[in-house]
Amino acid sequence: MVIAIDGPAGAGKSTVARAVAARLGFTFLDSGAMYRAVALAALEGGIDSDDGAALTSLAEQLDVRFDGTRVLLGDRDISAAIRTPEVTAAASRVSVHPGVREALVARQRALVGAGSYVAEGRDIGTVVSPESPLKVFLTASDEERARRRAAQSGEDVAAVLAAQRHRDASDSEREHGALRAAPDAVVLDTTGLGFDQVVDRVSSLATERGLA
Ligand code: C5P
Repeated sequence: MVIAIDGPAGAGKSTVARAVAARLGFTFLDSGAMYRAVALAALEGGIDSDDGAALTSLAEQLDVRFDGTRVLLGDRDISAAIRTPEVTAAASRVSVHPGVREALVARQRALVGAGSYVAEGRDIGTVVSPESPLKVFLTASDEERARRRAAQSGEDVAAVLAAQRHRDASDSEREHGALRAAPDAVVLDTTGLGFDQVVDRVSSLATERGLA
């Protein structure tokens, strides 16, 4: 069973999903880390981000795993390497390929089918698990999302905002697994809300629905 937390970049999905999972005793799944791992392996292997066939076979064979808060590729800890601006931009490009998405969606379904998860991404409530009993679409204004990202990474806000707009457009306009709220999702605009308020709200929704 999975609580789905989808939304655009910088809406706070990871931190909120992680905290909700900890509070409810569920496992956290960061689906974006899987797309990032494919992007990192492609960059390192010299695979072009337009080469859908090569990227699909890379995604199918990729030994990406989660170990607590660490993301592993084989035995290597790639937690920091997948967060660079270069990998962030490449993740958005590799994620448009239907074969890459199919491979990663299959893994995500296998994981969430075998336990109680809070999963964050773009398509958890629409594609990975349309039967999810609680779907939250987390969003915030463009400027607030960019400010939060910049505060985390130390980058310039204007540069983050420009890259974010590009990524949002690509995530929303792609043909497969496009970013959109599921029709039955609870849309939560976190602009001006504190982190604890958002975590409380999502956790209460889970309790009200008898999930925890
Ligand atoms: O959430 P995060 O910023 O780590 O995601 C990195 C990229 O992976 C996103 O820009 C998006 O293109 C892709 N992604 C996706 N589907 C998901 C999660 C992430 O396409 N479920």
